[in-house]
Amino acid sequence: MIWDELQSALDALQRDGLKRNRRTLESPCGPVAQVAGRTLISFCSNDYLGLANDPALVAAACAGARTWGVGSGASHLVSGHFAAHATLEEKLAAFTGLARALLFSTGYMANLGIVPALVGRGDAVFADRLNHASLIDAVQLARADSQRYPHGDLAALEKLLAASPARRKLILSDAVFSMDGDLAPLPGLLALAERFDAWLVIDDAHGFGVLGPQGRGSLAHFHLPHSRRLVYMGTLGKAAGAAGAFVAGDATVIEWLAQRARTYLFTTAGSPLIACALAASLDLITQGDARRQHLMQLIAQLRDGLAATRWRLLPSPTAIQPVIIGDNHEALRIAGALYERGLWVPAIRPPTVPKGTARLRVSLTAAHSEAQLALLVDALRELA
Ligand SMILES: *Cc1c(COP(=O)(O)O)cnc(C)c1O
Repeated sequence: MIWDELQSALDALQRDGLKRNRRTLESPCGPVAQVAGRTLISFCSNDYLGLANDPALVAAACAGARTWGVGSGASHLVSGHFAAHATLEEKLAAFTGLARALLFSTGYMANLGIVPALVGRGDAVFADRLNHASLIDAVQLARADSQRYPHGDLAALEKLLAASPARRKLILSDAVFSMDGDLAPLPGLLALAERFDAWLVIDDAHGFGVLGPQGRGSLAHFHLPHSRRLVYMGTLGKAAGAAGAFVAGDATVIEWLAQRARTYLFTTAGSPLIACALAASLDLITQGDARRQHLMQLIAQLRDGLAATRWRLLPSPTAIQPVIIGDNHEALRIAGALYERGLWVPAIRPPTVPKGTARLRVSLTAAHSEAQLALLVDALRELA
């Protein structure tokens, strides 16, 4: 009985164009992917600076493995916190210009740890409607009263904050929206947080390493003033090219998270060899102006190339360039047609995006060449 229910639910996913299929890569992460013996140009990864398979990161990981072995053996607070982690945390704090940083195993777990550690029953969370799934889940876990404001709408947020009787308030937003590529109005969010005495938790999964001077992230991009109420989460599996995440901010807040964030306490510390790779990655990010410049040129090339076509791009200034299709089956059909041409672009469907807004999510990276992107632009023009 219960199996039959699952099977009919799976059948329904297939029928609605919502069934996901994994493809197995036979080559490292990069602009060219080997899949089932075929060579494809991939526009799927979040490896925005092309560091995932960079020789300097590989060398640092190998050296790290020789020094530290592979596993950490325990959680950070027991015996899993190595000098490699401590060094990386110090580098991350200095890089972001925040008082202290704390490593987490993944961005998903960082978000799940932060929100319930800062607010609980009787408190209120104010969340952008297009926030990442991990932030949505984090609010559920916190059991706080949750209010979602229309995407990027500061006036609506202000009304909700003004009407809230909650003692503790927390504003929660992606900095770069993961499926739209646009930026949250961070200066406005911080001003509201100050005015209404609220926490401001910012998820910079797609801005860290890419935006701001030397890739220092979305806070630096907006020249945001220092604020103790700001809690910054950056992930290390996207532009940084490895795995993991960190939370940075005021030293008291970070110490509280180290004591109370359950996804920090009750999980094995990340591998020290990854921390070594990430230290090398931070150096490349800092010196990565040429990579970021090339990425910006590719973004302009794609937007110019599709400007006069029927394809509707969202107003995204970042590496995430969604082409809105609408219908699930149609999005799958176009992704399939590109795939036949050797171009791998993911079709993103609900529940990842709102119903009726299925899209191709083109991810550009500094590792793509102009010629590779030209193939995608030409194919899309042809399909239009
Ligand atoms: C990818 C992503 C996460 C999750 O980070 P992981 O390190 O992959 O778990 C969190 N928030 C946003 C906005 C993301 O895009």
